[in-house]
Amino acid sequence: MGEKTLISRLPERGVTDRQQINEILDEGFVCHAAYVIENRPVVIPTLYVRNGDQLLLHGSNSSGLVKAVRDGSPLSVGVTHIDGLVVARSGFHSSANYRSVVVHGQGRILTGEEHEKALDVIVDILIPGRLSDIRRPTEAEIKQTSVIGLPLDEVSAKVRSGGPNDDPDDLKSDAWAGVIPLSVVAGDPEPSDDLRDGIPTPDYLQPNRG
Ligand SMILES: Cc1cc2nc3c(=O)[nH]c(=O)nc-3n(C[C@H](O)[C@H](O)[C@H](O)COP(=O)(O)OP(=O)(O)OC[C@H]3O[C@@H](n4cnc5c(N)ncnc54)[C@H](O)[C@@H]3O)c2cc1C
Repeated sequence: MGEKTLISRLPERGVTDRQQINEILDEGFVCHAAYVIENRPVVIPTLYVRNGDQLLLHGSNSSGLVKAVRDGSPLSVGVTHIDGLVVARSGFHSSANYRSVVVHGQGRILTGEEHEKALDVIVDILIPGRLSDIRRPTEAEIKQTSVIGLPLDEVSAKVRSGGPNDDPDDLKSDAWAGVIPLSVVAGDPEPSDDLRDGIPTPDYLQPNRG
Protein backbone atom coordinates (compact mmCIF):
# COMPACT_ATOMS: atom_id res chain seq x y z
CA MET A 1 0.00 0.00 0.00
CA GLY A 2 1.48 3.37 -1.00
CA GLU A 3 0.98 6.89 0.26
CA LYS A 4 -1.86 7.56 -2.19
CA THR A 5 -3.88 4.59 -0.99
CA LEU A 6 -3.51 5.19 2.74
CA ILE A 7 -6.92 5.26 4.40
CA SER A 8 -6.72 7.51 7.43
CA ARG A 9 -10.37 7.54 8.66
CA LEU A 10 -11.53 4.19 10.09
CA PRO A 11 -8.58 2.30 8.57
CA GLU A 12 -9.93 -0.93 10.15
CA ARG A 13 -12.47 -0.89 7.32
CA GLY A 14 -9.64 -1.11 4.80
CA VAL A 15 -9.21 -4.29 2.78
CA THR A 16 -5.84 -5.32 1.39
CA ASP A 17 -6.57 -8.89 0.28
CA ARG A 18 -6.25 -8.86 -3.51
CA GLN A 19 -8.83 -11.57 -4.03
CA GLN A 20 -11.41 -9.65 -2.04
CA ILE A 21 -10.53 -6.49 -3.96
CA ASN A 22 -10.94 -8.38 -7.25
CA GLU A 23 -14.34 -9.68 -6.13
CA ILE A 24 -15.51 -6.13 -5.43
CA LEU A 25 -14.28 -5.01 -8.85
CA ASP A 26 -15.77 -8.02 -10.65
CA GLU A 27 -19.21 -7.45 -9.19
CA GLY A 28 -19.45 -4.00 -10.72
CA PHE A 29 -19.30 -2.47 -14.14
CA VAL A 30 -19.68 1.26 -13.48
CA CYS A 31 -16.80 3.32 -12.15
CA HIS A 32 -16.12 6.99 -11.66
CA ALA A 33 -12.90 8.01 -13.35
CA ALA A 34 -11.20 11.22 -12.23
CA TYR A 35 -8.65 13.00 -14.34
CA VAL A 36 -7.19 16.48 -14.68
CA ILE A 37 -7.66 18.48 -17.85
CA GLU A 38 -6.69 22.13 -18.32
CA ASN A 39 -5.82 22.26 -14.63
CA ARG A 40 -9.25 21.24 -13.39
CA PRO A 41 -10.41 17.94 -11.98
CA VAL A 42 -13.21 16.09 -13.76
CA VAL A 43 -15.08 12.97 -12.63
CA ILE A 44 -16.81 10.87 -15.27
CA PRO A 45 -19.02 7.82 -14.75
CA THR A 46 -18.16 5.12 -17.22
CA LEU A 47 -18.10 1.34 -17.75
CA TYR A 48 -15.09 -0.76 -16.82
CA VAL A 49 -14.05 -4.37 -16.62
CA ARG A 50 -11.23 -5.98 -14.70
CA ASN A 51 -8.98 -8.02 -16.95
CA GLY A 52 -6.31 -9.69 -14.82
CA ASP A 53 -4.16 -7.02 -13.23
CA GLN A 54 -5.66 -4.07 -15.01
CA LEU A 55 -8.92 -2.22 -15.46
CA LEU A 56 -10.08 -1.60 -19.01
CA LEU A 57 -12.04 1.58 -19.73
CA HIS A 58 -13.12 2.50 -23.21
CA GLY A 59 -14.43 5.56 -24.97
CA SER A 60 -14.45 7.67 -28.08
CA ASN A 61 -11.03 9.00 -29.09
CA SER A 62 -12.40 12.50 -28.59
CA SER A 63 -13.74 11.96 -25.05
CA GLY A 64 -12.25 14.05 -22.28
CA LEU A 65 -11.08 10.96 -20.42
CA VAL A 66 -9.20 9.55 -23.41
CA LYS A 67 -7.69 12.94 -24.25
CA ALA A 68 -6.56 13.42 -20.67
CA VAL A 69 -4.86 10.01 -20.55
CA ARG A 70 -3.24 10.71 -23.91
CA ASP A 71 -1.94 14.00 -22.48
CA GLY A 72 -0.46 12.23 -19.46
CA SER A 73 -3.04 12.95 -16.75
CA PRO A 74 -2.95 10.49 -13.86
CA LEU A 75 -6.22 8.73 -13.10
CA SER A 76 -8.10 7.92 -9.95
CA VAL A 77 -10.94 5.47 -10.44
CA GLY A 78 -13.58 4.61 -7.86
CA VAL A 79 -15.95 1.64 -7.80
CA THR A 80 -18.74 1.52 -5.22
CA HIS A 81 -21.39 -1.00 -4.26
CA ILE A 82 -23.96 0.44 -1.91
CA ASP A 83 -25.28 -2.45 0.20
CA GLY A 84 -27.55 -0.66 2.60
CA LEU A 85 -28.57 2.44 4.47
CA VAL A 86 -27.61 2.20 8.12
CA VAL A 87 -30.35 3.87 10.14
CA ALA A 88 -28.98 4.72 13.56
CA ARG A 89 -30.56 6.37 16.58
CA SER A 90 -28.66 9.56 15.83
CA GLY A 91 -27.76 11.36 12.66
CA PHE A 92 -24.10 11.16 13.67
CA HIS A 93 -24.01 7.35 13.63
CA SER A 94 -26.28 6.91 10.61
CA SER A 95 -24.20 5.55 7.79
CA ALA A 96 -24.09 3.29 4.76
CA ASN A 97 -22.95 -0.25 4.17
CA TYR A 98 -20.68 -0.43 1.18
CA ARG A 99 -17.77 -2.05 -0.60
CA SER A 100 -15.56 0.35 -2.49
CA VAL A 101 -12.29 0.33 -4.36
CA VAL A 102 -10.10 3.23 -5.44
CA VAL A 103 -7.38 2.74 -8.06
CA HIS A 104 -4.67 5.31 -8.73
CA GLY A 105 -2.32 5.26 -11.65
CA GLN A 106 -1.24 6.22 -15.08
CA GLY A 107 -3.58 4.92 -17.77
CA ARG A 108 -2.18 3.63 -21.04
CA ILE A 109 -3.94 3.86 -24.42
CA LEU A 110 -3.77 0.35 -25.83
CA THR A 111 -2.62 -0.07 -29.43
CA GLY A 112 -2.54 -2.67 -32.19
CA GLU A 113 -3.57 -6.22 -31.41
CA GLU A 114 -3.82 -5.49 -27.68
CA HIS A 115 -6.38 -2.77 -28.44
CA GLU A 116 -8.52 -4.99 -30.70
CA LYS A 117 -8.40 -7.88 -28.27
CA ALA A 118 -9.36 -5.58 -25.39
CA LEU A 119 -12.53 -4.52 -27.23
CA ASP A 120 -13.60 -8.18 -27.32
CA VAL A 121 -12.60 -8.71 -23.71
CA ILE A 122 -14.79 -5.80 -22.63
CA VAL A 123 -17.85 -7.27 -24.37
CA ASP A 124 -17.07 -10.76 -23.11
CA ILE A 125 -16.73 -9.69 -19.48
CA LEU A 126 -19.71 -7.32 -19.47
CA ILE A 127 -22.04 -9.82 -21.19
CA PRO A 128 -20.49 -13.29 -21.13
CA GLY A 129 -21.64 -15.30 -24.12
CA ARG A 130 -22.48 -12.27 -26.27
CA LEU A 131 -19.43 -12.21 -28.55
CA SER A 132 -20.43 -15.26 -30.55
CA ASP A 133 -23.85 -13.74 -31.36
CA ILE A 134 -22.80 -10.32 -32.66
CA ARG A 135 -20.99 -9.09 -35.74
CA ARG A 136 -17.31 -8.20 -35.60
CA PRO A 137 -16.41 -4.52 -35.18
CA THR A 138 -15.52 -2.65 -38.36
CA GLU A 139 -12.13 -1.03 -38.88
CA ALA A 140 -13.80 2.37 -38.42
CA GLU A 141 -15.41 1.32 -35.14
CA ILE A 142 -12.10 -0.01 -33.85
CA LYS A 143 -10.33 3.20 -34.87
CA GLN A 144 -12.91 5.41 -33.17
CA THR A 145 -12.78 3.59 -29.86
CA SER A 146 -9.86 3.93 -27.50
CA VAL A 147 -9.23 1.50 -24.69
CA ILE A 148 -7.42 2.59 -21.56
CA GLY A 149 -5.55 0.04 -19.48
CA LEU A 150 -5.09 1.04 -15.86
CA PRO A 151 -2.77 -1.20 -13.82
CA LEU A 152 -4.08 -2.45 -10.49
CA ASP A 153 -0.87 -1.51 -8.69
CA GLU A 154 -2.00 1.28 -6.41
CA VAL A 155 -5.32 0.07 -5.07
CA SER A 156 -7.25 0.56 -1.86
CA ALA A 157 -10.53 -0.89 -0.72
CA LYS A 158 -12.89 -0.20 2.13
CA VAL A 159 -15.87 -2.18 3.40
CA ARG A 160 -18.56 -1.36 5.94
CA SER A 161 -21.11 -3.96 6.93
CA GLY A 162 -23.47 -4.61 9.81
CA GLY A 163 -25.89 -2.55 11.84
CA PRO A 164 -25.60 0.87 13.43
CA ASN A 165 -22.87 1.56 15.97
CA ASP A 166 -25.01 3.63 18.31
CA ASP A 167 -23.84 5.28 21.52
CA PRO A 168 -24.79 3.10 24.53
CA ASP A 169 -26.99 5.91 25.91
CA ASP A 170 -28.98 6.02 22.66
CA LEU A 171 -30.06 2.37 22.95
CA LYS A 172 -32.89 3.54 25.26
CA SER A 173 -34.31 5.55 22.38
CA ASP A 174 -37.77 4.73 20.94
CA ALA A 175 -36.47 5.47 17.45
CA TRP A 176 -36.28 2.49 15.06
CA ALA A 177 -32.78 1.41 14.16
CA GLY A 178 -31.43 -1.05 11.63
CA VAL A 179 -30.42 -1.42 8.03
CA ILE A 180 -32.32 -0.89 4.78
CA PRO A 181 -30.64 -3.32 2.35
CA LEU A 182 -29.96 -2.01 -1.14
CA SER A 183 -28.81 -3.85 -4.25
CA VAL A 184 -28.74 -3.66 -8.03
CA VAL A 185 -30.97 -6.36 -9.53
CA ALA A 186 -31.23 -7.34 -13.21
CA GLY A 187 -34.80 -7.33 -14.50
CA ASP A 188 -36.37 -9.44 -17.24
CA PRO A 189 -34.92 -8.70 -20.70
CA GLU A 190 -37.07 -6.26 -22.71
CA PRO A 191 -36.91 -7.05 -26.45
CA SER A 192 -36.04 -4.19 -28.76
CA ASP A 193 -39.04 -2.70 -30.65
CA ASP A 194 -37.35 -3.58 -33.93
CA LEU A 195 -36.41 -7.15 -32.97
CA ARG A 196 -37.38 -9.56 -35.75
CA ASP A 197 -40.05 -12.11 -34.84
CA GLY A 198 -38.96 -15.49 -33.62
CA ILE A 199 -35.66 -14.50 -32.03
CA PRO A 200 -35.58 -15.97 -28.53
CA THR A 201 -33.80 -14.36 -25.59
CA PRO A 202 -30.50 -16.15 -25.13
CA ASP A 203 -29.95 -17.89 -21.80
CA TYR A 204 -26.92 -15.74 -21.06
CA LEU A 205 -29.21 -12.68 -20.84
CA GLN A 206 -31.62 -14.21 -18.34
CA PRO A 207 -31.55 -12.27 -15.05
CA ASN A 208 -30.52 -15.28 -12.95
CA ARG A 209 -27.55 -16.12 -15.17
CA GLY A 210 -24.27 -16.83 -13.36
C1 LIG B 1 -21.20 4.72 -0.33
C2 LIG B 1 -20.21 5.42 0.57
C3 LIG B 1 -20.64 6.43 1.37
C4 LIG B 1 -19.74 7.10 2.21
N1 LIG B 1 -20.19 8.16 2.92
C5 LIG B 1 -19.30 8.89 3.64
C6 LIG B 1 -19.71 10.08 4.28
O1 LIG B 1 -20.87 10.50 4.20
N2 LIG B 1 -18.79 10.76 4.99
C7 LIG B 1 -17.49 10.33 5.08
O2 LIG B 1 -16.68 10.99 5.74
N3 LIG B 1 -17.08 9.22 4.49
C8 LIG B 1 -17.94 8.49 3.75
N4 LIG B 1 -17.52 7.38 3.10
C9 LIG B 1 -16.13 6.97 3.29
C10 LIG B 1 -15.24 7.74 2.34
O3 LIG B 1 -15.21 7.03 1.10
C11 LIG B 1 -13.79 7.86 2.87
O4 LIG B 1 -13.32 6.59 3.22
C12 LIG B 1 -13.72 8.83 4.02
O5 LIG B 1 -13.98 10.13 3.55
C13 LIG B 1 -12.40 8.83 4.74
O6 LIG B 1 -11.37 8.91 3.85
P1 LIG B 1 -9.88 9.17 4.38
O7 LIG B 1 -9.79 10.54 4.94
O8 LIG B 1 -9.48 8.02 5.24
O9 LIG B 1 -9.08 9.02 3.09
P2 LIG B 1 -8.64 10.16 2.05
O10 LIG B 1 -7.50 10.93 2.64
O11 LIG B 1 -9.83 10.90 1.54
O12 LIG B 1 -8.09 9.24 0.90
C14 LIG B 1 -6.80 8.62 0.99
C15 LIG B 1 -6.81 7.36 0.17
O13 LIG B 1 -7.56 6.36 0.86
C16 LIG B 1 -8.21 5.53 -0.07
N5 LIG B 1 -9.68 5.53 0.28
C17 LIG B 1 -10.36 6.41 1.04
N6 LIG B 1 -11.66 6.07 1.13
C18 LIG B 1 -11.81 4.95 0.40
C19 LIG B 1 -12.89 4.13 0.09
N7 LIG B 1 -14.14 4.39 0.54
N8 LIG B 1 -12.69 3.04 -0.69
C20 LIG B 1 -11.47 2.74 -1.17
N9 LIG B 1 -10.38 3.49 -0.90
C21 LIG B 1 -10.55 4.59 -0.14
C22 LIG B 1 -7.98 6.11 -1.45
O14 LIG B 1 -6.95 5.38 -2.09
C23 LIG B 1 -7.52 7.53 -1.17
O15 LIG B 1 -6.66 8.04 -2.16
C24 LIG B 1 -18.39 6.69 2.27
C25 LIG B 1 -17.96 5.64 1.46
C26 LIG B 1 -18.85 5.02 0.60
C27 LIG B 1 -18.35 3.93 -0.28
